[in-house]
Amino acid sequence: MQEFEQNQEYLESVLQLPCPSCGGELSYSASKQEINCNHCGFVKAFEQANDMVQEKSLESAAQQMQQFSPKTIQKKVIDCGNCGAQIMIQDDEVSVRCNFCGSEKVNEKAMDQNLIQPQGIIPFMVDKQSAKDKFSEWIKKGWFKPNKLKTLAALGDVHGIYVPFWTYDAKTFSNWTGEAGFHYYVTESYTDSEGNSKTRQVKKTRWEYRSGSFDKFFDDVLIVASKGLPHKVITPIYPYELDKVINYNNDLLVGWEAEIYSLDVMEGYGVADEQMDVEIRRIAKSQLGGDTQRGLRVNSQKWGQTFKHIILPVWLCSYIYNDKTYQFAVNGQTGKINGSKPVSWVKVASLVLFIIVLIAVIYVASNQ
Ligand SMILES: [Zn+2]
Ligand SMILES: [Zn+2]
Repeated sequence: MQEFEQNQEYLESVLQLPCPSCGGELSYSASKQEINCNHCGFVKAFEQANDMVQEKSLESAAQQMQQFSPKTIQKKVIDCGNCGAQIMIQDDEVSVRCNFCGSEKVNEKAMDQNLIQPQGIIPFMVDKQSAKDKFSEWIKKGWFKPNKLKTLAALGDVHGIYVPFWTYDAKTFSNWTGEAGFHYYVTESYTDSEGNSKTRQVKKTRWEYRSGSFDKFFDDVLIVASKGLPHKVITPIYPYELDKVINYNNDLLVGWEAEIYSLDVMEGYGVADEQMDVEIRRIAKSQLGGDTQRGLRVNSQKWGQTFKHIILPVWLCSYIYNDKTYQFAVNGQTGKINGSKPVSWVKVASLVLFIIVLIAVIYVASNQ
């Protein structure tokens, strides 16, 4: 009896959107950018507001984290509200699909496995067909790709995934010291092996000690919160137009894959902190100036850190060429694509050979 009650409670947290008009299923359509029924065309409006997408204090999140004990992930059985079949799901699985009737649901409780709930989302703007078109366009480009790639690359399943992200803001102040080197040339006299006196230009460096300081405000440093998605796959499809983030809404997830974060807010901040340091050092280097530099030391203070937890759309896919799997990603908002491509070693070798011949020709020509 008690078990039954638990299941009932759980069932209520699985979201499905029956069409009020025909009883079919509603889901978010990327091509139309609306929640609709693909049977009868009924459209359900969704809120476009963004008042819930607000900066939160990182310090208080860090304190809350100390008291938060993550639940152990368990498997549970739910009843499919559509066909009545029983579905086994895991607590942290966001998207649920009934294997019997194919109906899609959102496990709203999956979000509760984590301390922090998503505040904002950018709904998919690029649909599946457009993502595939981007792939065909992209696979044709590139100097070193094998000629047959275009026709032989077997496209795998294209997944539209709502990926969890953190954005971080921070105020920073930095002091730096270092030496800027300026090159200059002096004319030196010397005697060659035959006893003739000659002159030559010699490069010297004048070093100048410098120091400075600057303020830098970091706004929305974007960090992917999924451990399964490498940075090198995701960062090249940046930027996202973050001013288009709207309030998080579970309805938008129906029919799509989604993930809860696996990199927590403090781990994510660690990554953001390193990125900020790289940027701070870049600014210090440009302020130090000179033709060359040495001994640059930078001291920074960061404070007032805030974060947001948002969900962004990504198309993920792999393709197979010559028995090897290559991955690519498409920005689900802008359509920007990135991925790896096989290299034709014959073409690379030909280019290297061509360059060697060219150098040889120039060398011979200049010595005549
Ligand atoms: Zn309908
Ligand atoms: Zn079902």
